[in-house]
Amino acid sequence: ETIAANIRRNAAEHREHIALVDRGSDRRWTYGEFDDDTDALAAAFLDRGVRKGDRVGIWAQNVGEWALVQYATAKIGAILVNVNPAYRAHELEYVVKQSGMTLLISQILAPPHSDFHALATEVAAAVPGLQLIFLDTVPEALVGDVALGERETFSGLLAQGRALLDDDGAKYAVRLEQAAAELSADEPINIQYTSGTTGFPKGVTLSHHNILNNGFFIGELLGYSPADAVVLPVPYYHCFGMVIGNLAALSHGASVILPSPGFDPAASLEAVAAEQATSLYGVPTMFIAELGLPDFSAYDLSTLRTGVMAGSPCPVEVMRRVIDDMNMSEVAICYGMTETSPVSTMTRVDDSLEARTQTVGRVMPHVEVKIVDPVTGLTMPRGQKGELCTRGYSVMLGYWEEPDKTAEAIDAARWMHTGDLAIMDEDGYVDISGRIKDMVIRGGENVYPREIEEFLYQHPAISDVQVIGVPDEKYGEELMAWVILKDGFDTLTAAEVKEFAAGRLAHFKIPRYVEVRESFPMTVSGKIRKVELREEGERIVS
Ligand code: ATP
Ligand code: MG
Repeated sequence: ETIAANIRRNAAEHREHIALVDRGSDRRWTYGEFDDDTDALAAAFLDRGVRKGDRVGIWAQNVGEWALVQYATAKIGAILVNVNPAYRAHELEYVVKQSGMTLLISQILAPPHSDFHALATEVAAAVPGLQLIFLDTVPEALVGDVALGERETFSGLLAQGRALLDDDGAKYAVRLEQAAAELSADEPINIQYTSGTTGFPKGVTLSHHNILNNGFFIGELLGYSPADAVVLPVPYYHCFGMVIGNLAALSHGASVILPSPGFDPAASLEAVAAEQATSLYGVPTMFIAELGLPDFSAYDLSTLRTGVMAGSPCPVEVMRRVIDDMNMSEVAICYGMTETSPVSTMTRVDDSLEARTQTVGRVMPHVEVKIVDPVTGLTMPRGQKGELCTRGYSVMLGYWEEPDKTAEAIDAARWMHTGDLAIMDEDGYVDISGRIKDMVIRGGENVYPREIEEFLYQHPAISDVQVIGVPDEKYGEELMAWVILKDGFDTLTAAEVKEFAAGRLAHFKIPRYVEVRESFPMTVSGKIRKVELREEGERIVS
C-alpha cells in the first residue's frame, strides 16, 4: 500500500476523529480536515509543476505544516527531503544540491536561535530554479523586519490549492486520482539525511513500502488504535518523528500531538495532561529533562500507557522512573537506523523490566537480523559480540546518488551492515554494545567505550562521560575520557580516575587522559558527536 492510499483509507474511516494537534500554534486537524488540506496542498504542488519523483524539501521544527507537507508530497509521489533544523548555510546548500531539490518550504526563525530566512534566501539565490516558500509565522523579533521582503507563504500555497479544488474541483480531483494511480509502493518517497553522528550526513532513500510498513508494525506492537494520542517532542526531520511518530499513529487512526516547535520538557508534560495522551516519545536525555522538572509531580500523567525511547542507550534508573513515575509501563525501546526505515528490533509491551533496560528487544516482524564476525562475515554463535546485519522490507533503497556508499553498506544478498556491535541471546533479545567505529584497539586489545562509560558513571563526581580512542605511538591508541562534572565538583584528574578504577577495571581499559567539559557537541537528534571529540582529542595529544 502507498502512504497516499493509507491516509485516504484512515481518513474515510475516522473523518471526525483528531489526526493532528499543533499546540505551539493552537491548531488541530480532524482526519477529514487533514485529508482535505493535504489534497489542497498536493493540488498546489501539481499546479507548480511538482511531479512524481521531484524533490520537495522541508526545513522546519515540529509544526503542523511539516505533517501536511509529508502527506501532500506522498499523495503525488514527490520525494520529501527532510532538512535538519540545525543546518547552517553550507549544509543546507549541500542537501539542496545533493538531492536536486526544486521546492523548499522553510520556517522563519529568529536569530540567535536561527536565521532560516536569511540562510534559505542565500541558498536559493545560489541554486537556480529552486522555489522557496516560507511558513507564515514570523517570530516576534522579526516582525516588521524589511529584510523579510516579499515572500511566498505557506498559507498562500494552501489557499491556491483550495481555490483550485473549489473552482475546478472535478478537474483537480481527477488529477489527484491520476497521480495516486501512478504511484507504486516500491518507489522512493523520502530522502532522510542521517544524524551525522559519525561524519557528514548521508541521504537515505526510502520507499512508501519501507517506511509505511515500519511505522505500521511499530503501531501494531504498541497496540495503537483511535483511542491513542501520541505526544511527539522528537524532531520531525528525523525518522523518530515522521515514521515512529506520524506513520505509526496515523496508520492506526490514533492522534498525533505536537507539544512545541522545539523541545521543551514542560510543554511535553503539559501536552500529555491537557490532551490525555496515552503515549510519549523521547531520547533518554528528553525523559531525563522531563523527570527533572521541579514541578514534575504536578503534571497529571495518569493517562499514559506506552511510548518509545530510542536513539541511544537508556540508563537503568531513568527507565525505572519512566515506568514507575510516568506510568509508562508499556514503554518500548527501539533500535534502528535511518537506513532501515528505521526500526529493526524493539521490546514488546509485555517484556520484563530487565529486557527493557538491558536489551533493545527482539527483531521486528518480517525483518531478519544476524550478528556476524566483522572480519570473516560468518554468523556468530548466540551470546557473542559482532556486527548487527539486517535484511527485509525495511532496508533502504540506497544512499541518494551514492552507489559506492550503498554498495559498502548493503551486500549482494541485500544484508544491511549497520556498523553497530551487538550480542543476541538465546531468546533472541539483542544488546547493542556500541559502534564499530567507536571501538578502540589499544595494544591489540579491543576496548568497547560503552563498557568503560557505564563503569565511570558510578564515579561520584561524574554526571556524563564519553570515552574515545586517541592516537598513541606505543599502543596504537590510548583511551581518553571526556567528562561533565556534577554540581559542586570543579576538577577530575587522570590520576583520580585511575585510582577509582584500579582493581575494578582491567589496566588496559583505564583512560590515560581525562578532559573536563561543560557540555558535549550534540546532533539535533540528541546524540553526542564522538567524531568531534576524537578530532579534538587528537589535537590535544599531538
Ligand atoms: P550517521 O550515520 O550520520 O553517523 P547516526 O548513525 O547517528 O548518524 P541515525 O540513523 O539517526 O544516524 O542513528 C542510527 C544509530 O543510532 C544506530 O546505528 C545506533 O548506533 C544508534 N542507536 C539507535 N537506537 C539505539 C538504541 N536503542 N540503543 C543504542 N544505540 C542506538
Ligand atoms: Mg549511521
